[in-house]
Amino acid sequence: MATSTDITTYNLTPEEEEQLIESEFQDVLNGYLKSNHRKKVEIIERAFRFAKKAHGGIRRRSGEPYILHPIAVAKIASQEIGLGSTSICAALLHDVVEDTDYTVEDIEAQFGKKIAQLVSGLTKISGGIFGDQASAQAENFRKLLLTMSEDIRVVLIKMADRLHNMRTLGSMAPNKQYKIAGETLYIYAPLAHRLGLFEIKTELEDLSFKYEHPKSYERISELIRQSEARRSEVYNDFSAPIKEKLDTMGLKYEAQSRLKSVYSIWRKMEAKHVPFEEVYDLYAMRIIFDCEDQSKEKEICWSIYSAITDLYRLHPDRTRDWISVPKANGYQALHLTVMGPDGNWIEVQIRSRRMDEIAEKGFAAHWKYKIGESDEESELNVWLRTIKDILDDPNPNAIDFLDTLKLNLFASEIVVFTPKGELITLPNQATVLDVAFELHSQIGTKCIAGKVNHKLVPLSHKLQSGDQVEVLTSQSQKPKEEWMAFLATAKARTRLRAALRQEQPPVID
Ligand code: MN
Repeated sequence: MATSTDITTYNLTPEEEEQLIESEFQDVLNGYLKSNHRKKVEIIERAFRFAKKAHGGIRRRSGEPYILHPIAVAKIASQEIGLGSTSICAALLHDVVEDTDYTVEDIEAQFGKKIAQLVSGLTKISGGIFGDQASAQAENFRKLLLTMSEDIRVVLIKMADRLHNMRTLGSMAPNKQYKIAGETLYIYAPLAHRLGLFEIKTELEDLSFKYEHPKSYERISELIRQSEARRSEVYNDFSAPIKEKLDTMGLKYEAQSRLKSVYSIWRKMEAKHVPFEEVYDLYAMRIIFDCEDQSKEKEICWSIYSAITDLYRLHPDRTRDWISVPKANGYQALHLTVMGPDGNWIEVQIRSRRMDEIAEKGFAAHWKYKIGESDEESELNVWLRTIKDILDDPNPNAIDFLDTLKLNLFASEIVVFTPKGELITLPNQATVLDVAFELHSQIGTKCIAGKVNHKLVPLSHKLQSGDQVEVLTSQSQKPKEEWMAFLATAKARTRLRAALRQEQPPVID
């Protein structure tokens, strides 16, 4: 996906350049004015003028005026993530403290405390996550998450910054390209996923892949182009009867064919050792329906499901109900897989317009930024609190820390129930002991066994989605080092580590 700024050639006259800058900024303003945010244009204008002057005369490696970068970041923050004026200002100003003589105090004097705090947060995490030493990366990552748990907008703007840098990576030095692409794939894409920024995650992955494996990227892109005609023929055959049926049901909807990203096709080919031709789920059908009344959404989803399964054969175990139990990042939809007219399985994703917006722009964008106010406790909040728990550990081993968090970012989730019917979301591979620590440190350290679906199991028993889990404890139990090996959650590991330290005071040598 190219932006207008990375295809421009920089043999512009100063007047043309000036015009380009002004019109790019005007785009940001126009997009903002179309959004539902309050119309605080004056402060955005001021932030732009300030940043433009501060970066005056500086150019990016591509030759373009530097200010085009903060403008692009502000545009992404506003139009692709859905953030408001405070974030747009912070995005316009995000490199000012880092790259010019202005300080955070100057920003505060001009634009107030909130914007200054965001700029300060962004300046703190401006270094790469991969330092020369592993512990330095962990430390930077720690800083990133710490800042993030203070104000989620910092990390959302950082995400916009990274996305623009990835979109314009072609003009960077090749050795830098590789490092930035690796870092993006390792940390930013999973983080985007965790924040529910699905579109951004996909683009980050594809761009990283393009720079890390240029040949494979080109080859797969070419195969996608070649198979396009055939694919749209099959899609039309498949979708026509569905659309007909939805029309007779009187629904207002939009049907799309969604192609898998180049990166996920490649991953599938690698994981399953199959050639491109055998990746059968190259695309999915997506149905987005309009619905005024939120309480009707679930019912409509299932009525569409029923209509489709009347037409096509259902794959027995590929139905995913993320409406009754949304994913931790807020994702909601009903997925099913049915056999298409050519004998291949096709996935269909059913969602309301509201669910679609959350899926594309992220739960994060819906978060009201009301830190301190007890808003509805979202899953995202819970996750942020887990991070805080880990960060509050006074004596973390930096590498362990990175590992546990990475584990949490990558893991896909399962949902289990307590005997009282409460839901607990856990990463894949989580065990009875994870649940014990999730409930309380004391329950974790005293855990001796569990009952899963009323059957006695050891602590290390791996749970499956839908399990009912009861934790059995004993006062004589003591926490054990070996437990570390089968804990899957960062919270449990942190809690166990803390308990072990209390058991055995460190030997001073
Ligand atoms: Mn930047």
